[in-house]
Amino acid sequence: MKLFFTILFCLCFIFGETGAAAPLQADTIRVALQKGSETIRLDGTGVLAIADDVEPLRLSLPVQLKRVMNGVSVNGRTVRKLVASAPAVLIVNGKGYRGTIEITPSDKGLLVVNELPLDDYLVGLINCEISSQWPMEAIKAQAVIARSYAVYQRETRKNALYHLESSVLDQVYDGCDIEDSRAARGVQETAGEVLTYDGRVIQAFYHSNCGGHTEAAENVWGSPIPYLKGVDCKYCQSAPSVKWEQTLTLGRIESQLRNSGYKVAGLKDIRPGRRNASGRLTDLVLVTANGRQTLPAPKFRMAVGSTVIRSTNFEVRVVGDNAVFAGAGYGHGVGLCQWGAKQRASDGFDYREILSYYYPGTQLVKNNGD
Ligand SMILES: [Zn+2]
Repeated sequence: MKLFFTILFCLCFIFGETGAAAPLQADTIRVALQKGSETIRLDGTGVLAIADDVEPLRLSLPVQLKRVMNGVSVNGRTVRKLVASAPAVLIVNGKGYRGTIEITPSDKGLLVVNELPLDDYLVGLINCEISSQWPMEAIKAQAVIARSYAVYQRETRKNALYHLESSVLDQVYDGCDIEDSRAARGVQETAGEVLTYDGRVIQAFYHSNCGGHTEAAENVWGSPIPYLKGVDCKYCQSAPSVKWEQTLTLGRIESQLRNSGYKVAGLKDIRPGRRNASGRLTDLVLVTANGRQTLPAPKFRMAVGSTVIRSTNFEVRVVGDNAVFAGAGYGHGVGLCQWGAKQRASDGFDYREILSYYYPGTQLVKNNGD
C-alpha cells in the first residue's frame, strides 16, 4: 500500500512538472490583439517574461518592443518569442489583459496574441459586443453565443497561431478594463454552456440588428447551415441604428469596388436587383461605361464598407453624381439579432427561449472545455 502511494506520488510529481511547463489550463483561448504593428508597449506589476520558451528575462518596465530584422528587440536583446505573464493584469499599449501575452515577429511587424481562460475572455467581451446594462437574460444569451463561437473557431483553427481576431472579423475584444460584475454574472450563470446541433458546437453567428427578419446563412456565405435559416424578428425596431441613410459619390464607390478587385469603369448608375425571402438584396445592377454588371449585394457591402453600407436591406437611387442609400438593420443579419434579444429579454423571455428562437433546432448543453 505504501509502495502504491509512493509510486502515485512520483507520478503526480512527474506529471505535475510537465503540467507546470504547459502554457495554461485546457479551457483557454488565443486571441490576436495586434497584427503588423512595428512596436508595442508592455507594462504591469510583477511581470514574468520568458524568451524563446526557456530563458527568464528581467524586463525594465514599461518596455517598448520593436520588430527588428531577426526577431523582436526588447531591452537591447533580440528574441524570436517573448511570453509575458503577471499576477493580475498585463498592460499592452495602455490596456489591461488577463492571461499571457505572446509576442512574435510576423511577415509584417509584430504578432501579439493574448492567451487567457475562455470565461475571462467572455467577461471582457460583453461590454464590447453589447452593454452589461442590458437585461440579464440578454447578457446570458450573448455569453452563450460568444462562447459557442469561440469554441467552434478554436477547433477549426487548432493548428493556427491564434483562434480569434479581436475585431468584427470574429468577436470584438478589448481586454479586461471594461469588465464589470453584471458581465461576470452573465458568464458565470451560463458557465460551460454552448449551443449544439447534431451533437456539435454550432457556428453561432450574430449581429447588431436585423431590421425585421434575420438572414439565411446561404444568402451571405453561399452554403446553407440548418440552424441559420432566418426568422421573423419584430423586436429590434427600437434599436438606434435600425434605419440608416448614406450618400456616397459614384467616384468613391467605383474606386472602392476597384480596390476590392472588381473591374468597374465609368460607373453611372446603381439599381437594386433581386431580393431574397428576408427582404434583403441578393444583387445590384451597376450601369457602367462598358455596360451592365451584376454584383452580389453582400460583396458590394464588404467592398464599400460594412459600417458605411450597414446592411444589404436597402433602397438606392442615383441623383447627379451621388448614390443615395436608405436601409434598415445593421450587420450581416445571420443568427441572433442583439437588439432583438434585448427586447425579448425585456419582454420576459429567458435566455434559453431567446437562443432557441434565433437558432432553431439547436440544443443548449454544458461543454466540458475539452
Ligand atoms: Zn431583429
